[in-house]
Amino acid sequence: MKHWKNPLDYDWPVIVENRDLRRTLPDIEAFFESARHEAESLPRVNNVVRDEALVEFSPCPICGSQDTPTGFVKYGFIYADCRACGHLFVKNRLREDVLLGLYQSSATDKLDRKVKTSQPHLDYWGQLHEKYLMLVGTLGITSKNALDVGCGAGTFLKNMCAMTDLIPHGLDFCEDTFQDIVALTGRENYYYRLRMEDVDFGDKRFGLITLWGVLEHLVDPFSVLSRCAEVLAPDGRVLLLIPNAHSRAIRILGVQTPTLHPRGHINLCTESSFALLAKNSGLIIERRFQELPVIDLMHPFISYDEDCVREIVAANEAYYDVYLLRRA
Ligand SMILES: [Zn+2]
Repeated sequence: MKHWKNPLDYDWPVIVENRDLRRTLPDIEAFFESARHEAESLPRVNNVVRDEALVEFSPCPICGSQDTPTGFVKYGFIYADCRACGHLFVKNRLREDVLLGLYQSSATDKLDRKVKTSQPHLDYWGQLHEKYLMLVGTLGITSKNALDVGCGAGTFLKNMCAMTDLIPHGLDFCEDTFQDIVALTGRENYYYRLRMEDVDFGDKRFGLITLWGVLEHLVDPFSVLSRCAEVLAPDGRVLLLIPNAHSRAIRILGVQTPTLHPRGHINLCTESSFALLAKNSGLIIERRFQELPVIDLMHPFISYDEDCVREIVAANEAYYDVYLLRRA
């Protein structure tokens, strides 16, 4: 019970020293290089991947609008801005079967997991998970069932098991981590290689459903979030972390910002597009939090101190948004 004594304490982000992150953790660069290489190996016409066996051109995934002018092209993929709801998304995203194949086993995702299981990463996410698990603990939720959608290497589930008496459930496609997840959840509570929409949960309901950096990867965030709302206990909560399309990092670093990673990050929500997504999914936004105000690459372009952090948080320009949601 170290920090976070009253509800407002949760508005202050978890702060870590990350200035030298890329030097201490060269796998980060290796991951982004691999992702770039993977995307650039696809055939392009006038710098855009158009092969219909690989990509699908779509309207705005949040509001369905076709009024989505190109913002910029990165590695053959078009990031478009929806004029109707403000959403930023990849217009020619990879087809879902291609994506799910990559999530099962790809060199890039192996590197991603290597980064995610490195010590600096585990330290940061450990603090973040502790903060939000403590918050969830204050809400008086009755059901102990907790589902981590896109549980990956199981970092959150591990922290959750160490810090709470919640009953762990997971959902993912990843082959490499199958045994690790089953060791935490048991086979029956691991929804392996199933989409959220396709799982038969019977009458099981969840007090907590988490999506840590998952929603931005999904082809159809609406159908997944709607399904989460359906299987949430009446007093349950959805807790999710997503990249912020209006972050200070994007403002400073532009198209070079790592989160603009078009194979993985298809959907980047703005405040307005997320509000619409939540509403359409049958969820109410209870609170919005800011995390990671400053990423390592920003340091040469800012004057870093507590005021700088305060300004970024007050402007809702941190790298991540965290939303706490309940059923409408
Ligand atoms: Zn839209």
